[in-house]
Amino acid sequence: MIHRNCSFCEARESEENPLIAGNSVYICKNCVFSAYKIMFGDEQESAQLPDDMNAQLMIPKEIDNFLGDYVIGQERARKLLSVAVYNHYKRIFKSGDIEDDDTEIAKSNILLIGPTGSGKTLMAQTIARVLNVPLAITDATSLTEAGYVGEDVENILTKLLQAADGDAEKAQQGIVFIDEIDKVSRMSENRSITRDVSGEGVQQALLKIIEGAVVNISAKGGRKHPNQEFVQIDTSSILFICGGAFDGLNDILEKKQGNNILGFGHEKKSKDEKKATFSMVEPDDLVHYGLIPELIGRLPIIASLEEISEEDMIRILTEPKNSLIRQYTKLFAIDDVSLSFEEDALRAIAHKANARKTGARGLRAILEETMIDIMYSLPEYEGYEIIITAEVISEGEEPIFIKKNNKKIA
Ligand code: ADP
Repeated sequence: MIHRNCSFCEARESEENPLIAGNSVYICKNCVFSAYKIMFGDEQESAQLPDDMNAQLMIPKEIDNFLGDYVIGQERARKLLSVAVYNHYKRIFKSGDIEDDDTEIAKSNILLIGPTGSGKTLMAQTIARVLNVPLAITDATSLTEAGYVGEDVENILTKLLQAADGDAEKAQQGIVFIDEIDKVSRMSENRSITRDVSGEGVQQALLKIIEGAVVNISAKGGRKHPNQEFVQIDTSSILFICGGAFDGLNDILEKKQGNNILGFGHEKKSKDEKKATFSMVEPDDLVHYGLIPELIGRLPIIASLEEISEEDMIRILTEPKNSLIRQYTKLFAIDDVSLSFEEDALRAIAHKANARKTGARGLRAILEETMIDIMYSLPEYEGYEIIITAEVISEGEEPIFIKKNNKKIA
């Protein structure tokens, strides 16, 4: 039998994902949906992926393609994530298809290591969106083991249940993103006396739900009390993605590689070499960092994200489907104002964001600061073109206003 592949995403023809043939080209069912989304927008009710076409049919390349629409760069991490997610849902939906030989496929939870603002949360959000599964985002620093001040670890599951509109079945196939996991390690200085001293209690509590357990949660959240209604959530199919910046991990890695030789021949590492070091993280290094081995064992996929360069910041401003510049342009267009940014202005924004050391997160704040005065008076500029120059960003100067009949007024 001849196998035919989709000309767009290269997915192989299958019963679940049939192809439509054109003049020497083929398009698969998934790509038809993607094309529909692109042409008619995500918001349209009818463009939603139907329930039967969720995770189980997405192949890694398709997942990566979707990720690429929103996440700039981070190719290696994107690839790892796409494969891990594919394996995860394959394990849930398809492992029964094979004659059982008692091989149990382990869960492929993921650890994303990368500086702040490099896209860790964005990746988790995009994956959930692509797969049409509920997502709960939480911060490990806000968690405590039961009995201390703070949020119980189990509240994560309540959040997930809420994201699934109360549907426990759906929640059990969802994704939980736990940020700042490095902050509950022993090496972290971000400790508090109201929490357990080492952060290990939180790690232990997380371990329980990450490795798979049936947990009674209160549907409404908050602390448990006896007269409450409980919902049972089995966490064994939930995909857990943990994220953290792991400051100081580089030192551990360099030491391991024997690069701490003093004296002659010891040269400072280039940025590229540093990046390479980071992508070589092994479970042992994380144990040194202060994560408990059992927890690391439950996060077998480790993907490292790179610091965002100024060039990538410019791309982030303009390229993603819902990029900030596109959002502002749309906001302005509603008031019949055409907004544009000169190339140098984009560079200036990227440069300013880079100096803040908050990764791409700084871009939004800088744009907000710049645009607030203009937006305050936006309705008055109806029929104008507004051009943002580098000076608007760096010197706080006025932008260029041009009446759409080409007459410059400022
Ligand atoms: P992290 O979780 O790594 O601290 P986030 O994913 O929250 O960072 O990123 C903050 C914001 O910066 C995101 O909302 C997104 O707009 C932008 N951003 C960060 N990294 C990227 C990227 N690689 N591609 C596109 N946008 C990005």
